[in-house]
Formats: sequence, C-alpha cells, structure tokens
Amino acid sequence: MPKGFRFAGVHSGVKAFRKDLALILSDVPATAAGCFTRNLARAAPILELESRLPCEGVRALLVNAGNANALTGEAGREDVRTLHAALAGVLGIGTEAVVSASTGIIGHRLPVEKLANALPLLQEALGGSPDAAAEAIMTTDTRRKIVSTTLRLDGHEVTVGILGKGSGMVHPALATVLGLVVTDAAISPDLLAAALREVMADTFNLLTVDGEMSTNDAVIALANGCSGAPRIASGGAALTAFTEALRDLFTRLSRDIASDGEGATKRLEVEVIGAPSTQDARELARAVAGSTLVKTAIFGADPNWGRVLATVGARAGMQGIAIDPHRSRVSLQGIAVYDGRPTDVDLTELKARMRAPEILIELDLRAGEGRARSFGCDLTYDYVKINADYSAVLVASADGKVARDDRLANYSPGFKTNLLVGALQYISRFSGQLCVVKYGGAAMIKPSLKESFCRDIELLRRVGLRPIVVHGGGEEMRRAVEKLGGVTKVVEGGLHLPGLEDARAMETILTGSVNTELVSLINREEHHAVGVSGKDGGLLRARRRPGSEGHVGDLVSVNVAFLKMLLDQGYVPVISPVGIGEDGHGYPLSGDAVAARIAVALGANKLVYLTDVVGILQDERLVSELTASELTTMLEGEGLRGGMRAKALTVLEALEGGVTKAHIIDGRVPHSLIAELFTDKGVGTLITRAART
Ligand code: ADP
Ligand code: MG
Repeated sequence: MPKGFRFAGVHSGVKAFRKDLALILSDVPATAAGCFTRNLARAAPILELESRLPCEGVRALLVNAGNANALTGEAGREDVRTLHAALAGVLGIGTEAVVSASTGIIGHRLPVEKLANALPLLQEALGGSPDAAAEAIMTTDTRRKIVSTTLRLDGHEVTVGILGKGSGMVHPALATVLGLVVTDAAISPDLLAAALREVMADTFNLLTVDGEMSTNDAVIALANGCSGAPRIASGGAALTAFTEALRDLFTRLSRDIASDGEGATKRLEVEVIGAPSTQDARELARAVAGSTLVKTAIFGADPNWGRVLATVGARAGMQGIAIDPHRSRVSLQGIAVYDGRPTDVDLTELKARMRAPEILIELDLRAGEGRARSFGCDLTYDYVKINADYSAVLVASADGKVARDDRLANYSPGFKTNLLVGALQYISRFSGQLCVVKYGGAAMIKPSLKESFCRDIELLRRVGLRPIVVHGGGEEMRRAVEKLGGVTKVVEGGLHLPGLEDARAMETILTGSVNTELVSLINREEHHAVGVSGKDGGLLRARRRPGSEGHVGDLVSVNVAFLKMLLDQGYVPVISPVGIGEDGHGYPLSGDAVAARIAVALGANKLVYLTDVVGILQDERLVSELTASELTTMLEGEGLRGGMRAKALTVLEALEGGVTKAHIIDGRVPHSLIAELFTDKGVGTLITRAART
C-alpha cells in the first residue's frame, strides 16, 4: 500500500455479524476525486460527494456496508453530515476533510448512532494492512478485493492501490459499487478526476454482472503525495504513466469483480474489433457480455455463437450502428465458429474448451478501427436464489440494524417444498435410531447456542430419533479447575483432583448446576428430558485409579438396563459424567469417554461430539471424512493434541465397540446438530468404522 495511509475495518452492528465499517486515513491532506453512478435514484452520500469532488484537503474516507442510505430523502443527507461531524471530532480534523460512501440495502435510514459509537474503535484499529477495510466494504462478495502496483515517477517510487467490491447490481455506469483508490502520487484534483474518467471508460464502464445499475456506485481516489514525487500538474509522461497504472489496476479489479459476480461460476470477456468507432465497439461488447441468453449459454458450456450475433445485430439495429453481422467473424475460446458463414468446427474440442472457468468471445466486425473489451460472467441458478431470497429474508429493526431473517416462512414455496421433501426423506431414515450426543465446547457457554441445542434435541425426539445427551463441565467447571491450578489436571478418562473435597465441588457443578440447567432448558415446552447423574441407579460405576495419588477414577461399567428403561418410556436421558465408586464417592469423569462407552453399551447407531472447532483439522484444514484406520494413523503423528486427541481416542473405542458412525461437529454454529444429521454433506468430521467403498 502507498505511503502515508492507514486502514481499519470493524463491526459496528449495521450488519448482524460481519465487519461493516471501513476507514482510510491519510497522514496528510490529500487530493480527492471520484466518479459516480448515473442512477437518478443515487444515494445520499453520493449526492454529497458529487457536490464536493474533485477537491484538496481530504484526510479521511469512511465507508459502511449493510445500509446504502439511498432513497432516504433529506433525512438521509442530514445523516451523512452528522456522521462526518462525528468522525471529524474523533479524529480531530475538520469536517471538510471527511468524505464517505455507503453500500447495502436501499430505503432504510442509516443507523448513525451505531456507526458513530464504533468510530473510536475504528480509530484504534488503524494500521498498515488494508485487509480489514477491504473486508468491511463487502456485501455479497465472497472474497475481499485488493489490487496494487508501483511505478517510478521522476526517480521516485509511487504506489497505487485499490480496494474494491462487487458483486451484484453491477452494470455501466459505473459498474461497481465501490473502488477506493489510494496513492502516494501528488496530482492536481482535475487531472486525477480526468485520469479516473478516462480509465473508467475502458474498465468499470465495460463491466456487467447483471445489467442492474446501483444507487451507490462510486470510485473515490485519494492522492496524498507522500512518495515525494513531483506533483503532476499538467499532461505529460508522468500523467500518462500514472493513468496507465490506474488502467492496469482497474482492469484487474474488473476481472476479479466479474468472476466473483453474484452466483457466477465463470468469467466472461468479450473483445470487439473492427467497429466503426470506439464508442460503437464499447456498446456492442457491453451488449454481448450483458445478454441473458449468452450468459446462460456460458453457464451451460454451450458454444451457442448464434446468440452472440443475434445480440450484436439487435443492439446495432437499435442504436443505428453501421455494421453487418453477416460479414463478421466470431471466435469462442480461440476457435473460429463463424466467418461470413458458420465454420466447420471440432465440436468436441470446442465444448471441452467451453468448460474452462474463463471464457473469451472475440468478434471482428470488419467495419472500422474501433475496439473494446468488456467484462462479465455467467448467469446461474444461484444468482436467482441470492436475489429471490435477499430482501425477503432481510429485516430492519427499529435502530436501523439490518439482519437476515431466515425463518422458513420467508422463503419461496418452491424452496420450502424442496427443503421439506429432502428433510422428510432423511428424518424417516433415522426413526428409532439411538444417538449419543456429547455436549461440550462453546455450545455450552453462549446462551443462544444453548437455546438452539436444546431445541434441536427436542426436535430429534419428536421426529422419532432417540437422543441421549452427555454433557461436559462448561465454563463454570473450567474456572473451578483453573482455580485449583497446577494441583489438578485433565487426564485420560477424567479429572485428576487433589482430594475428596475438590471432587465434591466438581460434582456440585456438574450435577447440581450444569445438568439441572440443561434439563430445564430442554423441558421448556415439553417434559421429556430426565437429568441423571452417573450415580443415579448406578448408571456409571467407577473405581479409584490403581496406584493414583489424589482423587481420580476410571469408568468401569454402564447400567444399560436403567438407561433402556428411560429410553423405552420415551425419555431423553441427560447425563452428568460423575461415576460412583465402590467407596460411594463421586468421580468426575470425562464426558467424551462416558459418551463413547454409553454408545457402545447401548449399541447406538451414532455418536456425536459438539465441540468448539469445525471438526478435526489437519494442517489447519477441515478433514470431512475419516475411517477408523486413517484416524489411527493421524494419532501416531503430532497433528492431534489436547482435547481433540482425547476425543479421537474415545471415538476409536466407540467404533471398535460397534458404533457405526461418529461425528465431531462445530457447536459454535447454531443447529449444527440438525445440519449434520439431516443433510447429505455433513458439517464437521465424520469418522466411520469400515474402509470407504
Ligand atoms: P470440548 O469442550 O468439546 O471437549 P476440547 O477443548 O476438550 O473441547 O477439545 C477440542 C480442542 O482440541 C479444540 O478446541 C482444539 O484446540 C484442540 N485440537 C488439538 N488438535 C486438534 C486438531 N487436529 N483438530 C481440531 N482440534 C484440535
Ligand atoms: Mg474436552
């Protein structure tokens, strides 16, 4: 990134979870210029920017995502001014040194207070990396977009960087919602604006994702002069070099945005040559890249050149462009398919090339010297899905916060039907199956996750599955163990405690507190959960570990008859992992080990561990499926440590004991239990007994 800029991106609460507020701060006053959407319904921040740019003396560029502040009337413009004043106050600069842009949902008041409250945090987060800022401006983009380059101007190294975002409502002009340019070049406001305009004509103005023009498109450039290169104040070599660097960056960004278009699976480029003029070439290139029929053909890898020429003929006819499509030449992926007439092509080869992720359509109109290249992408089922469900599942609360409301009721009838049919197929398959769930990790701590876990357990029971819950110790237990410090430790099979008193304290937490709370929560509507300690009915028999000092027990046996009795009556056992010793004392056991042993003793079909990672990780990547022998091999290496190592050992024990499938899933994701059990592709790690077929 160029010298003299700092960046920050934070979560202010406009969006439910993701970062949504970005700041770019120049150490010194910068020249600012911009290009804006031509949409007459343009947003309040755009109206404000247009009236001020190009200008000198800008220090801060603030951008929020999640709310576009568009079609919000005079109140929306007032909100922009309030926000600018708040940022100027926090940064200790003049209001005239602040510019801003917004992106997100149209027609909702900007939650100014929420944004203003986050400004001190934003200032604190300022640093050299642009990553968080680039992330905070994303909407439906699937990745952040940053490009940069360096050039030499009069012996000084000059850097130009752009933070961009797509990914829907992308069509000339301007064609992307945001491009934030930062450079340490020095340049006059008018020349900066002219350079941007020139480059836009070949890049963002030839970019189309869906033919829809946003209300908030803006390209904003800040040039702070910190490179030390002399100020560009007139045309010449320096201006040309600077403009070319910009052109190169915006071309790269256009490609990146096109390939990350909403739902896109392929990038499309259309190169037109031989048009009567550059303007005509641009018009026709844009028409082809924007044609719904061309785009769907690209999605289907169909070399349907007829659609290309049909589009060219239509647009030329409407606009009075003097060309004759019959005389043109069309190539797909470098293969000529039409040259004054259809050519003989190797269709197999052509179709194979059409499956590539990047598609090039070349068109020679043989009517002049005009040329242009447009950028686009294919049109897929996902584009429709994203946009059919988008506003239906967005709700705005009184404070302006926009969140997804993904209750099933909000989806289209077709989507609901598909979902229900899919779900019912799975559900019937599971009826009567025994499933032991170890409840641990983050799911035990966060109230909303506790809530969704308990609803899931109740749901499983209602659809005929027979769940058995074994819980861990949760946060309270962790703190208690920590307090005992070095004198206690987690060992294989349970807890090693200094003495009987500590064992009693742990038992009080497990049985008296964690277990009771869980049972109450599951039983909020219906009353099927039964809390049992391993002491009850001698459910978990333990014995003092031979030769051990202090207090540590091993699980000896499980009273299966007692458990079966509860299950047969339709109850959901919720088990506190405390074993009863021959000496009558309680022994806190490992929830992982207890769950595995119970699964074996009951002949359960499934064993599920809810924990606080996505599953088993290997080189920081999720392993979604493993056989018992693959897991054994993993255990021989160094990759599995701590809690996960202990879990893996108990999983192997369970599989050896006859359990068919064990799942390790992410308890931090709401309803992960349902997602794992009732969908084809699970969400965590599935470990199976037999070798994969
Ligand atoms: P729980 O409360 O669910 O029993 P633990 O903390 O006992 O959770 O076990 C899970 C922890 O194991 C993870 O949070 C992670 O830090 C650790 N771990 C060690 N190696 C791995 C690995 N290869 N994959 C996943 N987690 C691992
Ligand atoms: Mg653990």
